[in-house]
Amino acid sequence: MGKPTGFMEYKRLDKKELDVLKRIENFNDFHIPFDLDTQRQQASRCMNCGIPFCQSAMKINNRNVGCPLSNLIPEWNHLIYLGLYEEAYKRLEKTAPFPEFTGHVCPALCEACCSCSINGDAVGVKANELFLISEAFENGWIKPKKDIKRNGKKVCIIGSGPSGLSCAKQLNYAGFDVTVYEKEDRFGGLLMYGIPNMKIDKKIVERRINLLKDEGIKFINNTKIGKDISMDEINKMYDEIVFACGTSQPRPLAVENNNLEGILFAVDFLKQTTKNLLNKENFIFNLKDKSVIIIGGGDTANDCCGTAAREKAKSITELEITKEPPKENTVPWPNYPNKKKTDYGVLEANTLMGKDIRRYETTIDSVVGEDGHIKGVYIKKVEFVSENGRMVIKDVPNTKEYLDCDYLIIAMGFLGTSDSDAESYGLDHNRNRITLDNFKYSDKISVCGDMKNGQSLVVIALKDGIDCANQIIKKYE
Ligand code: SF4
Ligand code: SF4
Repeated sequence: MGKPTGFMEYKRLDKKELDVLKRIENFNDFHIPFDLDTQRQQASRCMNCGIPFCQSAMKINNRNVGCPLSNLIPEWNHLIYLGLYEEAYKRLEKTAPFPEFTGHVCPALCEACCSCSINGDAVGVKANELFLISEAFENGWIKPKKDIKRNGKKVCIIGSGPSGLSCAKQLNYAGFDVTVYEKEDRFGGLLMYGIPNMKIDKKIVERRINLLKDEGIKFINNTKIGKDISMDEINKMYDEIVFACGTSQPRPLAVENNNLEGILFAVDFLKQTTKNLLNKENFIFNLKDKSVIIIGGGDTANDCCGTAAREKAKSITELEITKEPPKENTVPWPNYPNKKKTDYGVLEANTLMGKDIRRYETTIDSVVGEDGHIKGVYIKKVEFVSENGRMVIKDVPNTKEYLDCDYLIIAMGFLGTSDSDAESYGLDHNRNRITLDNFKYSDKISVCGDMKNGQSLVVIALKDGIDCANQIIKKYE
């Protein structure tokens, strides 16, 4: 299978991107797709390994290795190389519920453990996946499934993020009558409001929701269960209830005066920015000509950097508490590499500021306000030291420094389910986690996705939604 020498003949190419200073003029996708010949060449780099680690869905040292969905990667790579795109898509859709989501936002665990990456560059699996699903939509290969035999059982899914949607799709295909409730005005959870439009265009999310509606799933927005509809009513209406509400409790900044105006959680900042963009309203948090500090070093902090660059902030600084990662990878294949990378948002902010905006082993010491609004922060250096066998964070003396700050955006991750969510649903919880036996909270109630696992990747949430649905399906077989 495959072109036997493809991996030796062709170098990995990454999609070209629009010039940074041009692309930050709007919130549009800035990647330029390959032409068909290049796409086929890139697919031909796949060696069809005897043991395809790329699709292995393994855990090594409790870390995910390989595609969690077990996507049939070598098979569709080969079919792309042959130019049999529709056949390739048919293999992709067997395991991937929404390749247009993962094709945009997945960190490509498959590529990290691709055999080609042992001594070279991985096959561009994610780009191949996005190519196939784009072709499928463009060429009308995706038709709403209408011939579903119904089993008379009603399921309610609370939350329309990745795990809620994949669970809904799986249950709907198995014949359940599925209703998805969403407390926000638009569906998609973090795909809609937690990830900016330039990373995944909201029309892509809406296109899939419309397809799921055409297939018979009911979607109800602006409805908070436990407030707009009581849990008692939900209990009476449905045979099964699935909670897929994500991790809604952001990790707070533990300093005095952390409630000053201008101190925002990243999730609120990104949500409001996307709402304003879609509603064609002015940005509520207008960062133009403002000094912006983002605390956190993950994907969400990166998304905030890209958003602040598009809003033309006067200065953008990212504070990361961790050590600066090494320039060369330090962990052996097939683990996810540990090396410094510069994602799109940081690159954009760096370009706009003319320097690397990241400051490592640095955190906030205190915030300074004026008339109820933040006006500056004292930052300090920290170090990780071993104490009694545990790593603890210590301040480095005499390193305090003052920075102007009109907006401080907190992107330090999530603690889990919020108390108010768990209470309004009547679920017992312990330190932001719902107590579960596998997916089961009770005979009738299941929990999946980040609400069950804590903050994780979209691809893991998708798999969790499918596994949760399969457990319910089994119960009625
Ligand atoms: S879902 Fe992610 S890990 Fe799986 S094949 Fe696609 S990009 Fe790779
Ligand atoms: S590990 Fe890489 S080269 Fe091997 S089958 Fe998977 S994508 Fe192809």
